[in-house]
Amino acid sequence: MALTLCIRRQGPSTPRPPSGPGPARRPARLGRVKILVIGGGGREHAICRALASDASVTALFCAPGNPGIAAAAELRAVDPLDPDAVAALAVEVEADLVVVGPEAPLVAGVGDAVRAAGIPVFGPSKAAAQLEGSKAFSKDVMAAAGVPTAEAFVCTTPEEAERALDAFGPPYVVKDDALAAGKGVVVTTDRDAALAHANACSSVVIEEYLDGPEVSLFAITDGTTVVPLQPAQDFKRVGDDDTGPNTGGMGAYSPLPWAPHGLVDEVLEHVLQPTVDELRRRGAPFVGLLYAGLALTKRGVRVIEFNARFGDPEAQVVLPLLSTPLAGLLHAAAVGTLDVAEPLRWHEAAAVTVVLAAAGYPGKPRGGDPITGIEAAEALGAYVYQAGTAYSDETGTLVSSGGRVLAVTALGGDLAVARTSAYRALAEIHLADAHYRTDIAARAVAGESAVP
Ligand code: AMP
Repeated sequence: MALTLCIRRQGPSTPRPPSGPGPARRPARLGRVKILVIGGGGREHAICRALASDASVTALFCAPGNPGIAAAAELRAVDPLDPDAVAALAVEVEADLVVVGPEAPLVAGVGDAVRAAGIPVFGPSKAAAQLEGSKAFSKDVMAAAGVPTAEAFVCTTPEEAERALDAFGPPYVVKDDALAAGKGVVVTTDRDAALAHANACSSVVIEEYLDGPEVSLFAITDGTTVVPLQPAQDFKRVGDDDTGPNTGGMGAYSPLPWAPHGLVDEVLEHVLQPTVDELRRRGAPFVGLLYAGLALTKRGVRVIEFNARFGDPEAQVVLPLLSTPLAGLLHAAAVGTLDVAEPLRWHEAAAVTVVLAAAGYPGKPRGGDPITGIEAAEALGAYVYQAGTAYSDETGTLVSSGGRVLAVTALGGDLAVARTSAYRALAEIHLADAHYRTDIAARAVAGESAVP
């Protein structure tokens, strides 16, 4: 592929459709629904816990789930990357709605297969999920929609990569074009390291470095109407003070006391709505959760990346703060009636989550270590979301089985209280040689604005 500069064009943004109820359309009251959630990590645990507390949900299944999710949903075995198998399971459990948690099943076409079986899905089609599945596609959509993002080159040869690195200068940002579970991005001042990462991937996006605090903003959309949730911030680097390599996310908090007034409206107008409009215009309407990873630079808001699903661990703080029942909201997105949904309601509280990671993470994590203290942590009022956990074949006890093992969330009247409570609850949990960041939300509590 030739070296391609993604030039930002100011594309027209379709005005938002009217959001008030029209004469013939009223907010649909959700009847009794059976829901199947696909996935088995901390994000799906947060989704299942929120759905389980929604009175309209009469049956909740999760496939494949995990030991923690089993407390909220009936677990079923499935290969989440097999679209036909997921569709067959949705038919078997008579699901009224399927919620796809992670990105990989979406990119594999699970949403399309379930829709083809006649069942509403919260999660984009394979085509729309390319917004996350291909950084190059995402850059192309942003350019067409006039969405502000980093200038970028798509490179497939070492020579192209070298030219792109030198065009921008340090710090270098090199992104694997394919899905990489949040770990395909290298940000470094070391040109050799940047080049080595570029050469290790078959196609890379090399882009301008964006300086400024990061914000994660989720929006629920039916492909036309866009409903933003409350912003959160996550912590990508493994170590305190943002040291060490990138991870899938080591903690998060919400709301953001330092965020500029009007940020959500601005992002809705200049980022979310134009992106949703552009995908619909391309014949690939985006139905599900559009996640904008943003940098608040001195020159204004810039999109770092889009994801096609809830962020993990941001979902573990945003969903517990949402007071609007989740099932009705996701169902309205899936069936295209968000334009008549009632405005969202939020708990007047703050939430902090801290991820407990296994020894070795973000490299190869050590598994099989016993986990104790979850009940004690929850007795303090925390939510312990399980991600990399399993029952040991030999002893039947709960053991670690992944890199990010748990996320411990606490709510409080403000961030300081939530943060103290989250770390107090985390202290009850034991996992040999586990590690976690000690500075989640610390700068926000100290009143500083917010580089994660
Ligand atoms: P992504 O997977 O694209 O979210 O990237 C992971 C992390 O790398 C982001 O959360 C940022 O901290 C960092 N990052 C990605 N792109 C850029 C950029 N253009 N400038 C600065 N940091 C970036």
